[in-house]
Amino acid sequence: MNATGYYTHPLFRKHEMGTGHPECPERLAAIDDRLLITGVLDALEQRDPTPASVAEIELAHGRMHIAALRGLSDFLREDISAGGPTHYHIDSDTAINTHSYQAALMSAGAAISATDAVIAGELENAFCAARPPGHHACRDKAMGFCFFNNVAIAAKYALERHGLERVAIVDIDVHHGNGTENIVAGDDRILMCSFYQHPFYPEGGSLSDAPNLLNVPVPAYTRGPAIRELIEQQWLPRLDAHQPQLIFISAGFDAHREDDMGQLGLVEQDYAWITQKLKEVAKRHAKGRIVSCLEGGYELSSLARSVEAHLRVLADV
Ligand SMILES: [Zn+2]
Repeated sequence: MNATGYYTHPLFRKHEMGTGHPECPERLAAIDDRLLITGVLDALEQRDPTPASVAEIELAHGRMHIAALRGLSDFLREDISAGGPTHYHIDSDTAINTHSYQAALMSAGAAISATDAVIAGELENAFCAARPPGHHACRDKAMGFCFFNNVAIAAKYALERHGLERVAIVDIDVHHGNGTENIVAGDDRILMCSFYQHPFYPEGGSLSDAPNLLNVPVPAYTRGPAIRELIEQQWLPRLDAHQPQLIFISAGFDAHREDDMGQLGLVEQDYAWITQKLKEVAKRHAKGRIVSCLEGGYELSSLARSVEAHLRVLADV
């Protein structure tokens, strides 16, 4: 079985954080349109996710964090019916509307559904065109457009519920996956590899020197060749040594040259190259199993083209 799954859901477009916010529903429309007109969608097995349960979210998050978000969502609904605001702000750039809590459960649920399917052997790999994204969400804190950490939840789920012994999380977003680091640091079953623009959001970059983390800061204006070199010299030997039985990708595409959210210089061919290298690692150690979850990527055209390049390699089309 070498099918590639494609998980998305209408709820992912109902969560929005206010007019003009870059992490917007249109991102998913741009991706879907691109995959449709290029014919790539035809090569994918489209699947519906099921929402994560609270117990599954608790694999990576504190009970109070989950309850607070649900409570906020309930209050907002009451406020709106009393003529109040349509959004609550959690921080200066992270807000909820009445759909956000359910969308966040579904976004984590997509990562879990994809994990179930690749471990069952129904799919070789899968991409979750899901939002809200997750990699800034810490154990007890929502931040940076993120509420629940989709990849960290799914990684813990693969270990705890499916009995895998080793997995990897590879983060290619321009921003450091501080939330993922916060949740997985010190868990030697999970190897986290990332590169990220530094200094940049979130302030401080990587804050842990736990041995299961390989987080490589790079300066603004770093381009594809330097990123490929660090992946070959640093990531690949560590990934091979770890022998992950499943690879999760925090698939942010805001390191693209055309994306003004960051100042790195990747292009579609770089995303294809990275995906190919990860696919080879997965073939060596993980029966090809990859679960890739959308994180950032805010320039709609480069986002859509980069997802297409990523999926062409995953699905071999
Ligand atoms: Zn990002």
